[in-house]
Amino acid sequence: MNIVSSFSKNITVVFFILVSFSLQMQAQESNSYYETIVENMGLDMLEANLQQHTDFGSKDPGTEALVNSFNWLKSTYEEWGYEDISIDTFNYSGNECYNLIVTKTGTHYPNKYVIIDGHYDTRNGPGANDNGTGTAIVMEIARMLKDIDTEYSVRFIHFSAEEVGLIGSRHYVENTVVPEAHDIQLVFNIDAVGGVNGMTNDIIVCERDESAPNTNNAASAAITDTLSNLIQLYSSLNTEISYAYSTDYIPFMEEGYVITGLYEKNETPYAHTPNDIIENMDLDYFKEVAKGSLGASLYFTRAYETTDIEEIVDIEILSAYPNPVSAILNVQINNFEQGHKLRIMNQQGQAVFIQDLYMDTKIDFSEFPNGLYFLVLETEDGEPLVKKINKIG
Ligand SMILES: [Zn+2]
Repeated sequence: MNIVSSFSKNITVVFFILVSFSLQMQAQESNSYYETIVENMGLDMLEANLQQHTDFGSKDPGTEALVNSFNWLKSTYEEWGYEDISIDTFNYSGNECYNLIVTKTGTHYPNKYVIIDGHYDTRNGPGANDNGTGTAIVMEIARMLKDIDTEYSVRFIHFSAEEVGLIGSRHYVENTVVPEAHDIQLVFNIDAVGGVNGMTNDIIVCERDESAPNTNNAASAAITDTLSNLIQLYSSLNTEISYAYSTDYIPFMEEGYVITGLYEKNETPYAHTPNDIIENMDLDYFKEVAKGSLGASLYFTRAYETTDIEEIVDIEILSAYPNPVSAILNVQINNFEQGHKLRIMNQQGQAVFIQDLYMDTKIDFSEFPNGLYFLVLETEDGEPLVKKINKIG
């Protein structure tokens, strides 16, 4: 968190606890594929990266620690096999600072981006909680997503000079995002999610845009409700909804983009001091936040499963859209041949939908559990056409 406006938070938080209960929506449906990924996330890796980030020391602008931290982040992404890595350089108070931007290209919407970000600079201390926690979680999400197909492109961004006034994120938004008119699905910011040692840390605050301009506020509220549901689905934590303030989503929301974010419920008393160390936070809580964040990121980026089962599709004959699908799948068949069956098979080989063939068929997937399905069309010569369909939602 940036220092400027962290004081007024507690006063209004009580009000938002009351509001948040009435805003709890029906739980998002669990996705067994996402559950498996979350179960397999590298909690040791997460902790090691938190430790490494902390060990660099106080990462204020102009310090060697900040540069070392940046170089470590960049080389780590390179080791993981990320190739689209760019550096956004800016000047703060005579010091060169660097935002790190790592891009993963989406399969269906390569020009539409989900941004997952956290600042890596610290203020007057090693910043284990603020924001080693967000840094390590963004990294681990990126590591887990590396070889998973996502419908949207993803940008993992480590901003610098947040603590001195959101300088890095503002520079990126003003000099890259706005001039290049980036198409951003949402910005998911993670800042200070370590909890407080000795306290009961079991609630995470999900933050939504409640400030001007108002055009993007409803979308932010909706995505924040979704975030809240996903956190509860993929972690042991409870959630509260509150308002966004004083961290790197601000420059995005001021430009009309849709944002959401996470912030700890029990606020560390050690922010921006030499005592913001791992021993003063709650590692178990931090790991639960990481699980929830990964589950949410899988959903936000529309990650989907691929299998080794061969897909045999003659697009001259069979097309199906949208894919992934959340509700209605439109199936179009050319070279119409009467008397054949259209089936939807699940991964266990069970037919969950059978219908006589029509030229254009709508299949309602909304009641099917999330996951991978196969659209199977029998043809005259006996070789069925098979198309993989991913159900999300
Ligand atoms: Zn922070």
